[in-house]
Amino acid sequence: MSNQHERPKGAGFILDKPCQKDIFIPELLSEDALAFGQAGLEFVEREILPHVEKFEWGETKIKANIEAMKKAGDQGLLMVEVPEEYGGLGMGLTATTCLSEKVAQYGSFTVTMLCHTGIGTLPILFFGNEYQKQRYLPKLATGEWLAAYALTEANHGSDALGAKTRAVLSEDGKHYILNGEKIFITNGGFADVFTVYAKVDGQHFTAFIVEKSFPGVSIGAEEHKMGIKGSSTTTIRLEDALVPVENVMGEIGEGHKSALGVLDIGRFKLGVGVMGMAKRMIAVSAAYANENERQQFKKPISSFGMIRRKLADMAAKVFAVESMGYRTAGLIEEAVEHLDKNDAGYATQVAKVFEEYNVECSIIKVLGSETAAFVIDEAVQVHGGYGFIEEYEVARNYRDERINRIFEGTNEINRLLLPATLLKRSMTGRAPVMPMYMKLAGRVKDAGADLFEGLDAPFLPDLVKMVEAVRLMTLYAFGTTLRKNMVQIQKPDFVMGKGEYFFEKLANMIIQLFAMESVVKRAQMLVARNGQEKAANAVSLASVACYDGMNVVDCEYRTLMTGIAGGNPAEIAEHEAAAARMRYYAPMDVIGLKESIAALIVDRQRYVV
Ligand SMILES: Cc1cc2nc3c(=O)[nH]c(=O)nc-3n(C[C@H](O)[C@H](O)[C@H](O)COP(=O)(O)OP(=O)(O)OC[C@H]3O[C@@H](n4cnc5c(N)ncnc54)[C@H](O)[C@@H]3O)c2cc1C
Repeated sequence: MSNQHERPKGAGFILDKPCQKDIFIPELLSEDALAFGQAGLEFVEREILPHVEKFEWGETKIKANIEAMKKAGDQGLLMVEVPEEYGGLGMGLTATTCLSEKVAQYGSFTVTMLCHTGIGTLPILFFGNEYQKQRYLPKLATGEWLAAYALTEANHGSDALGAKTRAVLSEDGKHYILNGEKIFITNGGFADVFTVYAKVDGQHFTAFIVEKSFPGVSIGAEEHKMGIKGSSTTTIRLEDALVPVENVMGEIGEGHKSALGVLDIGRFKLGVGVMGMAKRMIAVSAAYANENERQQFKKPISSFGMIRRKLADMAAKVFAVESMGYRTAGLIEEAVEHLDKNDAGYATQVAKVFEEYNVECSIIKVLGSETAAFVIDEAVQVHGGYGFIEEYEVARNYRDERINRIFEGTNEINRLLLPATLLKRSMTGRAPVMPMYMKLAGRVKDAGADLFEGLDAPFLPDLVKMVEAVRLMTLYAFGTTLRKNMVQIQKPDFVMGKGEYFFEKLANMIIQLFAMESVVKRAQMLVARNGQEKAANAVSLASVACYDGMNVVDCEYRTLMTGIAGGNPAEIAEHEAAAARMRYYAPMDVIGLKESIAALIVDRQRYVV
């Protein structure tokens, strides 16, 4: 457990009372970070958005992508994370988060660029040796070479470590000979360098840096996709491909470290990146709904309550993901700043920091992608029939956003990871979940115990109490699931069937808890910094997010507990009585709050905090 002055540990929000320590919020972004984000936005508005047709359709796609990435490289947009000694800018995660969301205005380019700077470049940065970093990073930082990440195979998607691609050492010991095929590789059509995963001697899962020009490497045709049509997705075939032994990345048999480590980062980047698109869709919808654009019944459609409700819901959900994203970026950046840059294992330590916060990264990926889906779906609805017509960008975005729930680990796999990681940390003593649950279960039964005692909130105490209610319900549900399934849960097939139903419900509760805690903390900080009046909209957004979060948790708790009780009425009643002790809804006029949020969006024609 963390105290006021310690940095919270990964997933600490489940174990600790609502966070009192300040968190990183986007309002704290440095001028440099904001300037960099603005440069990214201007680049996309100038070089990408006016030329979408070149990316989307036909033969020009690869050429357009290469040209765009070279220009992005010339502008310094590809070098933000690469340390200065390898030709980059070495900026922290809060700044790169700002850049990621600002460039995310057109799905295809977002995927291309974030693939290159993220899962393309970062394996080498975090897990490559000095030779590999010197050889590749300076070229990747400038865009001279472009990168891709090749893990998925035809029969191994979610079960990625089951890869069948083989690597065998050549007789002279100078090369590994790779055979196999990777599918669905983003940037495949033009990447110069691939991180490829293969099993040495069919057994030891290992990472290799493979250049397109190596003998035996060939690239397949472009996939015809439902969305992100302007991005490149191909197979990469390895037929007796000769990879120099110097290009083994990390140790033989330890490829899982980079394969999974890089996905933590990729998930974080995806979740925060899609917020850029979601904010754009709020602005586009508000502009369309306003007076001059669209009138029905002689009134602008922005005057109708159901349209206003949509705008408010879009904003409250974006506020939640934005708050979680920057909070996590701040936590990771702070942890990285405490590492010794001169230590030979520095880059690997950075990857370990991401691993510490992998629960947060998965949450951001899931809620980010699902929020983007919600926002874009509602944006289409605001546009009515026109939203279904390709001329309007909402139609394209509707197709483009769909992939976000599938790649970087499907949302099912990410949900599975949440309780599974907590379970692992609980069993290894890293997180004292069970002792805390046992204590809580005792207090819940004690009618005289005040479950909310000791909550110290100078601002927004009712919202803090709601967060605590959700934390207690989540802890209770998690502990009960473990207690009732202690034997089965340790068997590998627990998550087949019913066990996975339980895990999904727990995951949804954990996700809402982190979202609620993040929005309330941000709103508290804005009240403290700017006063009640100026922070009123942030408080409204946080209140709506909390109300919706409480509803989700309440519903998931009830369904989960009926399953755990196996339908036993007495047990169900016991869990319901426990919920009645823990549940708390702050009194609020949810409809009035939404109306005030919507009024601001309609007036300013954009997402407003
Ligand atoms: C456009 C695009 C770009 C991509 N880019 C890349 C890339 O650059 N590099 C790369 O390596 N890969 C890439 N991928 C692959 C992508 O990561 C995989 O498609 C994804 O991981 C899912 O694997 P799969 O398609 O085999 O689905 P499957 O694993 O077969 O899953 C099918 C369904 O079953 C569910 N499922 C699977 N296992 C479980 C479980 N244990 N519990 C519950 N549900 C489960 C899944 O969530 C999904 O709903 C890309 C894919 C696409 C479409």
